[in-house]
Amino acid sequence: MNGFSYRLRQWGAKLGGALRRFMQGRYGTDKLNMFLLGLGLALSVLAMLLSFPALDLLLTVAAYTLMGIVIFRTLSRNTYKRYRENLRYLQLVQQLRDRQHRYYNCPRCRQQVRVPRGKGKIAISCPKCKEKFIRKT
Ligand SMILES: [Zn+2]
Repeated sequence: MNGFSYRLRQWGAKLGGALRRFMQGRYGTDKLNMFLLGLGLALSVLAMLLSFPALDLLLTVAAYTLMGIVIFRTLSRNTYKRYRENLRYLQLVQQLRDRQHRYYNCPRCRQQVRVPRGKGKIAISCPKCKEKFIRKT
């Protein structure tokens, strides 16, 4: 019995080491992946509950596509690009939660500008390139 549990531990350690080596230099998971995975699972559950054949298929394909993206991102070696995607996702979530401000991109340099909501039409000047543009808040 003791010999068996020892061998099991050895085997577990070996497997863990192999997995670590496999994941070396790969991106792993992040908030965006967790969100995509959740969305994929939700879509596949929805596909099971609904019984419109065409919609079922569409939802199932969408769910598998999302899960494929999650696997691709997890195993990706282009960690910088994956990191940037996650950052963009986190920014978007923050913007959606922020009820006090609106976010615009400067038409010239794409710099993001945050302005207070509910001030009507205002002239915004870009903090980076000083370009002026008018937006409704
Ligand atoms: Zn600008």
